[in-house]
Amino acid sequence: MERFVYLDHAATTPIDKEVLNEMLPYLTLNYGNASSLYSLGKKSKEAVEKARLQIADAINCNSNEIYFTSCGSESDNLALKGIAQANRNRGKHIITSSIEHPAILETCKTLEKDGFSISYVPVKENGIIDIEELKRLIRKDTILISIMMANNEVGTIQPIEEIGRIARLNNIIFHSDCVQAIGNLDIDVRKMNIDALSMSAHKFYAPKGIGALYIKSGIRFNRQQDGGHQEREKRAGTENVASIVGMGKAIEIAEKNRNVYNDKLKKLRNAYVKSVINLFSNVFVNGDMENRLSGNMNISFLGYKGAYLVGELDKRGICASSGSACSAGLPMPSNVLMNISHNVKIAESSLRITFGKENTMQDVEYLIYCLNEILTKK
Ligand code: PLP
Repeated sequence: MERFVYLDHAATTPIDKEVLNEMLPYLTLNYGNASSLYSLGKKSKEAVEKARLQIADAINCNSNEIYFTSCGSESDNLALKGIAQANRNRGKHIITSSIEHPAILETCKTLEKDGFSISYVPVKENGIIDIEELKRLIRKDTILISIMMANNEVGTIQPIEEIGRIARLNNIIFHSDCVQAIGNLDIDVRKMNIDALSMSAHKFYAPKGIGALYIKSGIRFNRQQDGGHQEREKRAGTENVASIVGMGKAIEIAEKNRNVYNDKLKKLRNAYVKSVINLFSNVFVNGDMENRLSGNMNISFLGYKGAYLVGELDKRGICASSGSACSAGLPMPSNVLMNISHNVKIAESSLRITFGKENTMQDVEYLIYCLNEILTKK
């Protein structure tokens, strides 16, 4: 019954064929530098601007509020460092959550060394941040709040519109890391009062190595990469035209099919969790069941190490994760799960399954079959 089943879409996704086809001409015939003034360069420039518009349309902003970067981590760095540095005359206090991705948490550590003070909002047992605590943490010198829209490990969705309202009311800039959310959730930066938003193409069936940052016009931020005049002087470097084209196409496909994909993912996820609860004892579902990404299911199999389960599944052709891909190689239990459960046994024994649009019910059956084999073997 050996098969290959990819169930780690929160780590990365395969490139959609339609996306690849859209990209190919820019890797072969249309190789012009988007800054060049002759026709070949202009073709590249047009393609970049079309993608910028596709991305802007997906989150309801203007295309001149989108800046291309190399990945989600760079977008997070540019947003936090750029905004903090340019607004330090207004205050030096930043609020974030305890379950952010390292791209935010490590950036905050660097900002601390640069004289900023950072407060971390805790999350409740369901993985949703404590809004009352967020309100309490706001100070006169708070200049920035950065809260992710959806968590990469447990998929929990934060009350972003409410946080946006609180930030606006207190005249604080609001950034959201939407790397896991974009393509999966309906995002409207105007309605949600989001001033800055990070995204990464490889999470929605486009290539790795391309990301984008939305920054609302009027918000001051310093560039972090010096050099040429690209991206309106905010991010130097020759544009990665083919990948930008892919990112634009991929977001368009994701937006068009969002409801259909989400319905499908929910069915797969629910079938999986139902079988696990029916078949196995000592299991614990991590994170809120309602407010979570459709494709995410994070379950702790108490008594087993997550890394062991991942290894055993891999032997059977299944790709899964025991935490985020970035920390999967580390010996420590997941920071996110520790912050949610405060229980090492739960944090150490978690298995993150993230379904994608090409998965089928047969994949779920195969996963359950393999888990049964692993968990019942002596
Ligand atoms: N933020 C979140 C929530 C993520 O899940 C990730 C990647 O997994 C990143 C940021 C970093 O994105 P990238 O891998 O494109 O640097």
